[in-house]
Amino acid sequence: MVHKFKQLGYNIVIDSDSNAVHVMDDCAFDMLDYLSAPMSEEMPGDLPEKLSQYSAENVRETYGELYSLYNEEQLFTEDDYEKYSETMVKSPVKSMCLNVAHDCNLRCEYCFAQTGDFGGERCIMPPEIGKKAIDFLIEKSANRENIELDFFGGEPLMAWDTVVATIDYARSIEKQHGKNFRFTITTNGVLLDDEKIDYINREMVNVVLSLDGRRETTDRIRKTLNGKSAYDVIVPKFQKLVKGRTNAGRTDYYVRATFTKYNLDFTEDVLHMRELGFEQLSAEPVVTDEKEPFAITETDLPRIFSEYDKLCEIMANRTENKFNFFHFMVDLDQGPCAIKRLRGCGCGNDYVAVDPHGNIFPCHQFVGIEQWKMGSLLDGTFNDDIKTYFAKTHLYSKDGCSDCWAKFYCSGGCNANSFIYEGDCRKPYKLSCELQRKRLECALALAVDKAVKL
Ligand code: SF4
Ligand code: SF4
Ligand code: SF4
Repeated sequence: MVHKFKQLGYNIVIDSDSNAVHVMDDCAFDMLDYLSAPMSEEMPGDLPEKLSQYSAENVRETYGELYSLYNEEQLFTEDDYEKYSETMVKSPVKSMCLNVAHDCNLRCEYCFAQTGDFGGERCIMPPEIGKKAIDFLIEKSANRENIELDFFGGEPLMAWDTVVATIDYARSIEKQHGKNFRFTITTNGVLLDDEKIDYINREMVNVVLSLDGRRETTDRIRKTLNGKSAYDVIVPKFQKLVKGRTNAGRTDYYVRATFTKYNLDFTEDVLHMRELGFEQLSAEPVVTDEKEPFAITETDLPRIFSEYDKLCEIMANRTENKFNFFHFMVDLDQGPCAIKRLRGCGCGNDYVAVDPHGNIFPCHQFVGIEQWKMGSLLDGTFNDDIKTYFAKTHLYSKDGCSDCWAKFYCSGGCNANSFIYEGDCRKPYKLSCELQRKRLECALALAVDKAVKL
């Protein structure tokens, strides 16, 4: 399958099934509209007529070049991954989202966790559950050495004692079990102080810091309990935390924004975050019920696409104050491994989420949805049927993914969004697909631009 598009002044062609990325001149780019597999060595007789704006010689030479790519299996290749899909098996659990707090000190309008409580009672995970989570990971990770655990919420800093006790416990037993725990935390920053910043910068291999960009954007939707500006409280703390990391030469953090219908000019928010000194940035579209006033809907897509184009241009042309934008990052040389290509996130299979009561769910977005409860750390139950279901939920079991040019970069999208908005984990959420494909075009164009300018 071939997908072609223009971005940053390049004619870019993706051969989906081989993952080959080509930059073509106008003649080759236009010629592709009239070609398909199988190609024969002899050029179709009607091509020069269809491409009459180019000289006959140019058309002939170009056809020869495209035919070479076809022969080298870089154009119109066949999908030979489908045969692996039947062999997709359950994997050891190697990462966990630990919801240490089902409570939050902000009241963001778009919160997928219903402002932190996940639709239940506000509560904090006791340290004993955190320790049981470590025992669970050691047992279920089989022979995997590296294990990842993300402290999440609600707001995980509200359960600081549990965070510290869980890490202490893991460190005290990891060597004897041949494991290496890697901790991360996702925080709104309100409760950060010097001691927590030092601790996080010492213990966490990555941090996700939630901020929506400009003061007016952030404060409009990330509401505090006392009505004061969240931006004013959070920004200096994030700057201090990030400075601690960057002074040590580290780039392992993200300042992560959510954009909504209220700030479709989100490039300004990204640039503002850069001005605040942050270099590792992300801005994700809100995913919510269409009825919400801040929801992104299909009618917003053209505006969002042009905003992505703008951001892409800015990133390509910047010579100073550069930054990384998470959604525009793609590696042309080293694509994901075969399993990762077919089954993007490990939700419910090698990745699980645990709520403050020790209940296990396929991932943080499924937390609180009773039908997806996989078991409990307290009674040792762990539902194998759900694990098998997610092991078998991949590109070739999802509606339409195998015919999508972006399949091996996207790997089938988010199961939770599919379930929540389409009623079925195997039915891609159309709006997210549109956004994903546009972001990928920008990401591929930036990677091409970087390669060309080397
Ligand atoms: S900070 Fe996070 S958990 Fe808290 S209300 Fe906002 S989105 Fe929800
Ligand atoms: S989820 Fe959507 S964008 Fe991703 S591969 Fe499937 S159809 Fe394509
Ligand atoms: S299902 Fe969606 S939210 Fe859950 S881990 Fe996968 S990508 Fe993330």
